[in-house]
Amino acid sequence: MENDIKSLTILGSTGSIGRQTLEVAEHLDVKVIALSADRSIDLLDEQIRKFKPELVAVYDENAAQKLKERISDTDTRVVQGMEGQLEVAGNSGADIIVTAIAGQAGLEPTLAALKTGKRVALANKEPLVCAGTQVMQTAREYGAEIIPVDSEHSAIFQCLAGTIDSRCTKLILTASGGPFRGMTRKELEKITPEQALKHPNWNMGKKITIDSATLMNKGLELIEAMHLFDMHPDQIEVVVHPESIVHSMVEFADGSTIAQLSNPDMRQPIQYAITYPNREPSLTKPLDLTAIKSLTFEPPDMDAFPCLRLAYKAAKLGTHACAILNEANEKAVELFLNKKIGFNEIPSIIKEAIDNA
Ligand code: MG
Repeated sequence: MENDIKSLTILGSTGSIGRQTLEVAEHLDVKVIALSADRSIDLLDEQIRKFKPELVAVYDENAAQKLKERISDTDTRVVQGMEGQLEVAGNSGADIIVTAIAGQAGLEPTLAALKTGKRVALANKEPLVCAGTQVMQTAREYGAEIIPVDSEHSAIFQCLAGTIDSRCTKLILTASGGPFRGMTRKELEKITPEQALKHPNWNMGKKITIDSATLMNKGLELIEAMHLFDMHPDQIEVVVHPESIVHSMVEFADGSTIAQLSNPDMRQPIQYAITYPNREPSLTKPLDLTAIKSLTFEPPDMDAFPCLRLAYKAAKLGTHACAILNEANEKAVELFLNKKIGFNEIPSIIKEAIDNA
């Protein structure tokens, strides 16, 4: 198969995935057509001078005005607000659109990106979580190709590549278990945002780091996987794998299981989304298995981390419950980060929202 990806657009270029996508773009010598960000104009200014995109959207209108003045010596056009995000997303000048906006705010831009009918590298998981059916339907309708960037889903996508009639019976999502693996619910009571923001293996944004600590991240990924690979929640198993080397696995009808392994480095799945179906030399260091020595696996503790159980429940209830789960989680995480609630109240708030739905 041919790969003719020569240019890209990034929604959310100042976040962790956005920045790493630019590293990959530079490495692969892929042209940057357009960028979008919420309000981090210092970094956006640097990105504009280095990558010379035609178009940049800043969500915050004051920040957009400031950026316009700052980069008036360049050829980059600045647009603002949601309208601007949609203009960048729907700008079909790029061969691939990487969607890396954090949270539910990425839904409309993701749909706009899919409507270009181009390849969409999906790093923003919430649109699939809160509107998975609509997202997949839009992709089918407009002939857009969705390539997952989330490391677990990229792993599954990589495991499935090359199988014609895949007959996969189970997806096995691996989870690092987060920084509090092994702690009891009682011990988790006093966890502070500072402690929760230290992730052992991955360096990510705040929201997703808290989601990793509560295991909600794996819950959202379960819903994401259900939509991306058209599987029932009962066919998706979560296994805690603290080393974060096996990024996920697929079990097939013949009893064979295929896994994808690499050092934990988001630049690998980002690059695969761009070069698929080809593989090119990347910025990710190859594995040294004799140095790693052992890979371990254990079941998740859903009593200490009820968020995962709540996500299974929402996944079985359907789209509406998933949207409520996601919204309640976004609010609860923000309250926790602002020290308004304790760590264990995050699942309590979400449970109440689902029960009252
Ligand atoms: Mg992930």
